[in-house]
Amino acid sequence: MRQTSPHLILIVEDEERLAAVVADYLRAAGYRVHHLPTGTGAVDWIERERPDLVLLDLMLPGRDGLSICREVRGRSQVPIIMTTARVEEIDRLLGLELGADDYVCKPYSPRELVARVKAVLRRASRSPESPTPGVLALEPDRLQVSHGSAVITLTAVEFALLAALHQAAGRILSRDFLMDRIYSDGRIVADRTIDSHIKKLRRRLGELVPDTELIHSVYGVGYRYEEPDPNLVGPEGNP
Ligand code: CA
Repeated sequence: MRQTSPHLILIVEDEERLAAVVADYLRAAGYRVHHLPTGTGAVDWIERERPDLVLLDLMLPGRDGLSICREVRGRSQVPIIMTTARVEEIDRLLGLELGADDYVCKPYSPRELVARVKAVLRRASRSPESPTPGVLALEPDRLQVSHGSAVITLTAVEFALLAALHQAAGRILSRDFLMDRIYSDGRIVADRTIDSHIKKLRRRLGELVPDTELIHSVYGVGYRYEEPDPNLVGPEGNP
């Protein structure tokens, strides 16, 4: 069933020109758009109008994006993409575990932003009423991962990493968060860099599901587990 009314996107952004450009691009992509220039009243608006996605700037007059995100997330699962002018800020935001669905650093290209909006909406529409069969099946007791009839056995560290990412599919997890997950199972990890563990894990997953990137790097931020869209052919379009 196709939805008849287009998705409604709320842009909370105090840079008027930027908001206007983004709104134009989103409308051209077929979305309905509403713009709020301050953080004041954003929570009420979201509650009342129930947008399908919120594009939320961090630094706003009236009320900042951080506290808006917290309050909205406490009440609804509406997808939120946070935008910020500083890439280091993204790391901090991830550490706070606000529950935003994606983070975009300014300046961004409106085209890129529209792509991110589409991706987030696609993920949101997949869960949870109509789960597509996952690419991987995890078996924690045996540290095994299977794809169809193929099975691999991971190390405890690799499995812990994959389990954390898999469970949070579609969301970005920071390196710190992943590190905590590894240590929480009480094992000593000689190599403290998440990146090398991820590298090994990716290699192992490549044996299981060739030519498919399941663990995506988010530059300067962390990692995200994402299965390819079954409607798309090939893993193209990954950064
Ligand atoms: Ca701002």
